Amino acid sequence: MYQLLKRLSIFFLFIIMISHSTITYAEEVIIQVNNLNLRSGPGLTYDVIGQVNQGEDYPLIENQKQWVQINYKGNNAWVAMKYVKINKPDQKTTDDYKNTDNVSTIYDNTNLRNLPSTEGKIVGIIPKGTKLLVEDTTNNWVKTKWEGIKGYVPVGLVTDMLPSQFETHSNLKGKVIVLDAGHGGRDVGATGASNTHEKDHTIQTALNIKYDLEQLGAIVHLTRSNDKFISLTARAIYANHLQADAFLSIHYNSTPQHPNANGISTYYYDKKDQLFAKSIHEELLKTTNSKNRSVQFGDFQVLRTNHTPALLLELGFISNTTEELQIQRNTYQKKISRGIIAGMQKYFLTN
Ligand SMILES: [Zn+2]
Repeated sequence: MYQLLKRLSIFFLFIIMISHSTITYAEEVIIQVNNLNLRSGPGLTYDVIGQVNQGEDYPLIENQKQWVQINYKGNNAWVAMKYVKINKPDQKTTDDYKNTDNVSTIYDNTNLRNLPSTEGKIVGIIPKGTKLLVEDTTNNWVKTKWEGIKGYVPVGLVTDMLPSQFETHSNLKGKVIVLDAGHGGRDVGATGASNTHEKDHTIQTALNIKYDLEQLGAIVHLTRSNDKFISLTARAIYANHLQADAFLSIHYNSTPQHPNANGISTYYYDKKDQLFAKSIHEELLKTTNSKNRSVQFGDFQVLRTNHTPALLLELGFISNTTEELQIQRNTYQKKISRGIIAGMQKYFLTN
């Protein structure tokens, strides 16, 4: 009985760890127009460092008068406020915190200000995962003290999960993961209903997952980080050479003769990777709500010569107009990323 209780309590501890080690997303900035310039600072005089498009969404970092700072694939960038909408999914408000609660900063370089407003002077720049004591709350700002300096941080930039719960105890910390964006260069992969190329979707997905995995302390390598051709053999050799803990080859499906086909399939080659495949697949279905096209044996070269736990994922159909659009949305990409991360965390608990 005691043994059983001990086992049960370890089991529940794991469950608690899984449920707390997912990534925290605060407010989201939804882009309202196409070709919106990203700038290096809050004003038209700052350099244009990229562009974003309508319907895409990014985590909000800071919200100034006419400019909004977003997290663009791991980098900070500014967009004009009038072209975006700010969404607050599951947003905590100051009502959720009481004095003497502990909170932690979600992002690096969180500004500590001397007033509860973005007009306030910056009196400190707080690193991600810093534990702060709530001294008071006012109008969506948390009053706190950091390194002896009193000040305020926006409630959207903190979480009541402790840093140890959302990062350091993640079982992905230190894991070496190889993400393989399918196709590239002259090999465009499948072509979508509106002529998009699979190779462009797979690289976006890989970059997204990489960013999220790194937030949890994983060491992520990409077989390609831009649009270049890489042979299937080279991709597997790369994973073998790194002695990676996991290898995921990312693809999108296409069956123009069946334009309604949709859903996700997960392939493994080595029988010992079947459980890994199941774990990732089940979590992906939960987060994306996509059709289950099952876990299957797949005789793919990129898996066959791979000695690491290796899977090939077909994450949706670009020949299906609806899925092709969905795949290009940041919200769907985040769901994919969350599913893959949850699946990996589950798998690494026992492997
Ligand atoms: Zn492919």
